[in-house]
Amino acid sequence: MPHLLLIEDDLRIRTSLGRALTSRGHAVSSAATAMAGLQQAVDDRPDLVVLDLGLPDLDGVQLLRMLRSVSDVPVIVATARDDDQDVVKALDAGADDYVVKPYSAEQLDARVRAILRRTTGDAPSVAIEVGPLVVDTRARTVVLDGQPLELSPKEFDLLAYLASRAGEVVTKRQLLADVWRLPYGGADKTVDVHLSWLRRKLGESAQEPRFLVSVRGVGVKLVEPG
Ligand code: CA
Repeated sequence: MPHLLLIEDDLRIRTSLGRALTSRGHAVSSAATAMAGLQQAVDDRPDLVVLDLGLPDLDGVQLLRMLRSVSDVPVIVATARDDDQDVVKALDAGADDYVVKPYSAEQLDARVRAILRRTTGDAPSVAIEVGPLVVDTRARTVVLDGQPLELSPKEFDLLAYLASRAGEVVTKRQLLADVWRLPYGGADKTVDVHLSWLRRKLGESAQEPRFLVSVRGVGVKLVEPG
């Protein structure tokens, strides 16, 4: 049974959501403050964290950064408004998905299940080779020119997605839908920011690409360097 940790200061939401998620087959624990939530996330090792961004003791994005420095646990953030900036900040800080309040237990449960399918499913082991770049999707390691490359979890997901479609132009909308699980788009800058980070790690720039070639107005493709 997957264990969810709900970090939410609103007692009513905490109680009703906890009950609804429990009846949907999850084990649910909860915390009412950011610091208690961080402690529980570290001590109890939940399978997924649902994090309210509006907490009394600490900004939710700050908490997310602290959590990311010690844990790769999947995180869904809950935001009060459809605030693009909040969502972008949270995604850049390592959130896997988000919901906008008020959201239903059904909606949250669907997102939880989608993430757990990805993180606990048996990913087939495929070492994707694109010239001097080798991406191992099971070990989640990358080797470039014979040297291991350190990537953040999101940078890895992005690179693995592009490498598995080497030579194909991939649109930002596709990336948002498949890598960030944002089928309705909205956070375009997130893709650009992560692409530029990835470029830096691959030792290239948008002006002088080696693997990641931008196709103006369409998207980006990963190619074998000539
Ligand atoms: Ca709140």
